[in-house]
Amino acid sequence: MKLIDLSHPMIHGQQTFPWDPKLSIIPHGTTKTLKYNITQISMSSHQGTHVDAIYHFLDDGKTLDQMPLEWFYGHTHLIRIPKEANEEIVVEDLLPYEELLRPGSRIIYETGWHRHFGEENFYTDFPSLTQDAGRYLAAKNIRMLGMDTPTPSKDWYEIHHDILLPKEIVIVEGLANLDQVPDQFTFIGFPLNFKGRDGSPIRAVALVQ
Ligand SMILES: [Zn+2]
Repeated sequence: MKLIDLSHPMIHGQQTFPWDPKLSIIPHGTTKTLKYNITQISMSSHQGTHVDAIYHFLDDGKTLDQMPLEWFYGHTHLIRIPKEANEEIVVEDLLPYEELLRPGSRIIYETGWHRHFGEENFYTDFPSLTQDAGRYLAAKNIRMLGMDTPTPSKDWYEIHHDILLPKEIVIVEGLANLDQVPDQFTFIGFPLNFKGRDGSPIRAVALVQ
């Protein structure tokens, strides 16, 4: 059994979407001042590798604490759809994996964009799922959709608000190291229990048998 880290590191000042809060990680006390090291952290609930609650775009949708823990854990299929900057992920890219797209299944797609984390265009030029491809996945009633891009689509409002979240599909964004995992593994990615809130960074891990 092996554990593979699927989360990007969190570093003070790290980029986010331009209109979101910036990540601040500031030493608050040290072994010299307080006899222990302790840190003040301020960030977006969607910093780095993270999960979206249904409430993120739907005011009457489930918040983190209302989502069953089972939604963040379980057998997962990785599908590899290599894409360059600004390319689209279309229905035809998903068709070869149709038999994996069953009700309740967990799907992560790797475009290769995770290798660009930290680069200036990570949040602007990522490969983007078309609305048709999003509708195709939503119609399969999958449980979880993860990806190595910072959000599924440049049509981020429609893909969240109209297509994926109304079906209560858990969206896991900004996954790392997907080239190190096999095509099937157990995904573990629990959010912090921010009561009543919309999302949380996760330490995503692939458990490989
Ligand atoms: Zn998010």
